[in-house]
Amino acid sequence: MNNQTLQQLRSRMDDLNIKLLDLLSERAAIGRQIGEIKQSEGLPLHDPARENEMLDRLAARNAGPLEEKAIRHLFQEIFKATLEVQQPKKKPLLVSRKSKREDTVIRIGNTEIGGADSVLVAGPCSVESLEQVMEVAAALKKAGVPVIRGGAFKPRTSPYDFQGLGFEGLKLLKEAADEYGLQTISEIVTPAHLEEAAKYVDIIQIGARNMQNFELLKAAGDMRKPVLLKRGLAATMDEFLHAAEYIVSRGNSQVMLIERGIRTYEKWTRNTLDISAVPLLKQMSHLPVLVDVSHSTGRKEIMAPCAKAALAAGADGIMVEVHPNPAAALSDADQQLNLGEFAEFIREVKSSGVYRQSAP
Ligand code: PEP
Ligand code: MN
Repeated sequence: MNNQTLQQLRSRMDDLNIKLLDLLSERAAIGRQIGEIKQSEGLPLHDPARENEMLDRLAARNAGPLEEKAIRHLFQEIFKATLEVQQPKKKPLLVSRKSKREDTVIRIGNTEIGGADSVLVAGPCSVESLEQVMEVAAALKKAGVPVIRGGAFKPRTSPYDFQGLGFEGLKLLKEAADEYGLQTISEIVTPAHLEEAAKYVDIIQIGARNMQNFELLKAAGDMRKPVLLKRGLAATMDEFLHAAEYIVSRGNSQVMLIERGIRTYEKWTRNTLDISAVPLLKQMSHLPVLVDVSHSTGRKEIMAPCAKAALAAGADGIMVEVHPNPAAALSDADQQLNLGEFAEFIREVKSSGVYRQSAP
């Protein structure tokens, strides 16, 4: 007898569940219509005062057996779910693979970044003199490195440290690059310098400290020049990709991402190379991904293994600092490879199985 009653009650409960579900769905559909009207009127979707009114009315009507607290809680959840239905579907970021499945390939001169072959970018931390950049450019040419880097506007921690040669530095970099048929890359720190810099620089670098300098990102987005965007000192993947979105959403689709180490508690390296960033960025985004083994590690003896790890993880290229006389360098003296170390670094990376090269 008891068993039969239980079955009957359960069956009524199942019917009520269905009725509740139908009512909730009907309520959500009305909520969606309200959301559309609110949006067209420019009204906020969330209206806490109206929610409180509805809760008070329900609480006043409640005759039990459910407690008022339970009623309020249940309806608050219903309101929350309705609000979610009202939110317009967010469009995927332009930099994401959801927007574009194929890899973005950036061409500068005869070099492709993000294509079939791995790419190497090298050069001094700062441009210091014509002789210095000429010597480095010659070493790059010999090693088959197509892109020379060199800072002219240096974002230094101390205002008393060498700040870079400015436009004069960019001219020297370009002179050396032209002499050896290389492409140039250099950091620009203010929108006001972009137009003039574009005469000398093939790829505009936006440094870690400026990853969220939104006016600079927007101005770079208005240009039609490739941009190398460095990950911020403590930037999450989401922040990094949104920074790239600032550039791409202005119509400049030629953006490369570069992992340059993040700040952690570890002191044995200058920063912590976040190798997981490489496959994550490659999976989430169609933009080329590079790894800067100099600023991430700050240690010469682990740069080659880290470069190989980066390529094995799917990086499209590697950036490394090289200086003819690192001990006398005006910035980052400790981490720059000398020309001999550089030649060995390139040999080791290029001869590894993870370096992709279709033609020798
Ligand atoms: C640089 O590459 O010259 C530089 C300053 O690096 P970061 O912005 O990654 O510190
Ligand atoms: Mn440096």
